[in-house]
Amino acid sequence: MSGRSRRRAVVVAATPTPNGDLHIGHMAGPYLAGDVYSRYLAADGRDVIYTTCTDDSQTYVTTTARRLGVPAAQLCAESTAKIERTISAMGLSMEGLPPIDDRYRATVLEFFTRLHETDRLRERTVRLPYAQESGRYLYDGLMTGSCPVCLTGSAGGVCEGCGHPNNADELLGARSVLEPDSPVTTREVTILVLPMEEYRERLTSYFAERLGRWRPHAAQLVRELLDRPLPEIPVTVPGDWGIAAPFPETPGQILYPWVEAMPAVMYSTWWSADRRGERTEAVDELWRAGSDTELVYFHGFDNVYHWGLLDLVLLMAHGDRYVLPEANISNEFYDLEGEKFSTSRNHLIWSADLLAEVPRDLVRFYLALTAPEFQRTNFSTAALTEVTERRLIGPWNRLAEALNALAPAGAGSPLPTTATGRDRAASIIERFRLTYELDGFNLGRSAESLVAALDRLAAAAQEPRERDDALGAGDLLLQVRALLACAAPLLIDAAAEATAAGVDLALDAEQPEKITPFVLPRLPQAARAGAARTEVAA
Ligand SMILES: [Zn+2]
Repeated sequence: MSGRSRRRAVVVAATPTPNGDLHIGHMAGPYLAGDVYSRYLAADGRDVIYTTCTDDSQTYVTTTARRLGVPAAQLCAESTAKIERTISAMGLSMEGLPPIDDRYRATVLEFFTRLHETDRLRERTVRLPYAQESGRYLYDGLMTGSCPVCLTGSAGGVCEGCGHPNNADELLGARSVLEPDSPVTTREVTILVLPMEEYRERLTSYFAERLGRWRPHAAQLVRELLDRPLPEIPVTVPGDWGIAAPFPETPGQILYPWVEAMPAVMYSTWWSADRRGERTEAVDELWRAGSDTELVYFHGFDNVYHWGLLDLVLLMAHGDRYVLPEANISNEFYDLEGEKFSTSRNHLIWSADLLAEVPRDLVRFYLALTAPEFQRTNFSTAALTEVTERRLIGPWNRLAEALNALAPAGAGSPLPTTATGRDRAASIIERFRLTYELDGFNLGRSAESLVAALDRLAAAAQEPRERDDALGAGDLLLQVRALLACAAPLLIDAAAEATAAGVDLALDAEQPEKITPFVLPRLPQAARAGAARTEVAA
């Protein structure tokens, strides 16, 4: 449609930490949502790169490796392979995960060397928690304590509960995760930081323009953060797992793990484009302001501070060099049988296990229907089986059958459509667009719109008296085609089957005056009950 944006889009899902596979809480959060949005843009004729990059330098790699008794590098490699298989099993429209290699490290170092050369970084002496017995400085996942803002249990870096950051010695009652019995004191260290306060003016005008698109909980956190003195982003820290910081002021230190994300996803964007045969000269070319790329992030609420502020300031610190994100779409936690997913307590279902048992279109539909977009929601395998059968597969396959009886594919000539039928089909598409566009992006409403339209069309196909305005078979086919096109970002295999059979599922396709009967691909039977095992710690 002529009024719509034609800009190239780069869609980024939060960078997964390679200390395990993706469970369905991750999937129902940023990964499915980013995929649905990317597929919607692509169906609209947009050039889209959907990407992410593993976050190998995170402290959580070190702590999980210690818990499992394996070398950290081995954990990274094995987890990355698992995540890659899961991305492919779920049908996420990513090129894959880029290798964390010399080019990756060069991209990260170039990003920070430029900030160092342009005098954006400041030397600060801070007090860092210090585990006396091991001589280890503590930050992020290396420590645990209580959040200074909401007072609940929290790791270092950021609080999962309230989303507020805690730097250096701000965490209350800090203990070491690797050496829980070691006394913890604090020690003065000189590190390099990027003071967020220096970007307040730019942040304020950025959020004045964009915060309206954010979900309420995340927007509230941003307002809370802007109402306080803004934190200083550590750029270097003393540590032994990460990329060595190349600055003379901080010999022996590494880059703070969280600051790698921006150059990391620039690198993964470059790598994804390259895999498609679009080699750009500079790695960060598609992120440059001149590229006019539409940048969108998908991440959890616990990452609002990182993706929403810290990473934004890292881009702003480069002056006008980079595009800034159009929107951050965040999600809340997904519960499993009423309790938060937890890898350490083994209370989880791996996406790969569920996808091995349940056809992925059904998984995608059910995760979309129950996605924790605005508040915590719950997953249960029994509900997946019952709800997809009753609300999706039943009416869908009844519609497929009735359509086939009414207008058998391959028999006879194209059927005429009426202006009313063409209007109906266009209305279906317009309703779905509202759920896919950034201003109102909502997976739950996409899934509900699918169910509602499906009920209506299945009834109309089975019982002609139910057909409003006495529309003919051609009009019905036209609406079913529109519905299939709108469902395509969710039901990727059904859509691929129809496309392979020659059905045009482009969202901006003309509503034609004649339509050739086609087969609505049947949906596979639902999950075998209790298929994916819910692992609950004994
Ligand atoms: Zn908190």
